[in-house]
Amino acid sequence: MWRSIVITLFPEMFPGLLGFGLNGQALKNKLWSLRTVNIRDHGINAHNSVDDTPFGGGPGMVLRPDVIDAAVRTAKMSYESLPVLVMSPKGRPLAQDRIKELAFGEGVILLCGRYEGIDQRAIEEHAMEEVSIGDFILSGGEPAALAILDACVRTLPGVIGKNESLEDESFENGLLEYPQYTRPQVWMDRSVPEVLISGHHKKIKSWRLAQAEALTQRRRPDLWEMYLRENC
Ligand code: SAH
Repeated sequence: MWRSIVITLFPEMFPGLLGFGLNGQALKNKLWSLRTVNIRDHGINAHNSVDDTPFGGGPGMVLRPDVIDAAVRTAKMSYESLPVLVMSPKGRPLAQDRIKELAFGEGVILLCGRYEGIDQRAIEEHAMEEVSIGDFILSGGEPAALAILDACVRTLPGVIGKNESLEDESFENGLLEYPQYTRPQVWMDRSVPEVLISGHHKKIKSWRLAQAEALTQRRRPDLWEMYLRENC
């Protein structure tokens, strides 16, 4: 069973959207497991404090290293070997290849920041991998953790019925996916591209590849460059 442990100030947010659809079914069927560690349970002093003001000044609060360390140690107690990922806009942007590596492993520990973030020493002490889900700022790491778990779990064996539904997707061959169409064949005066109803599999395949290439070139020059380097 693939294991996930989320360290958060808001354990009630989990499983949240991960309880729905195929991922939710897989959770019920024990194809993966989810545990939360509440950072608040590791707060210090009479007020159960978890944060303090930043050294050097500036707005907001920072999560204390001793509190985060205690929470991470609790998470690691049962699963010493799991990688610890900390959600951070400063982190390496996550992509599908890393998601697949994580899903192929035993599981993950995900640490969700809040406020201005986490004392850097706790991140270094546990050799955490800092990961971002995009160049924008969330109010907390929880939506990022939910997104990462969603992406990992759907690739686990047995979660999605037909394996093909994973194979043809965006990023799988370094390209964005071709456009998809279903019934009705004509809708609001718009017809489905002729080639898709031709039944000619080879033609369909090359049309889809051409569409995927054109879309990737137009929308994601970064991916397109990589694709050219690998395929030419
Ligand atoms: N002051 C920080 C932002 C803090 S946002 C900075 O400028 O870098 C509060 C928390 O939300 C962060 O600790 C992190 O856990 C989470 N977070 C915000 N944006 C994120 C993103 N793009 N990816 C992953 N986690 C993010």
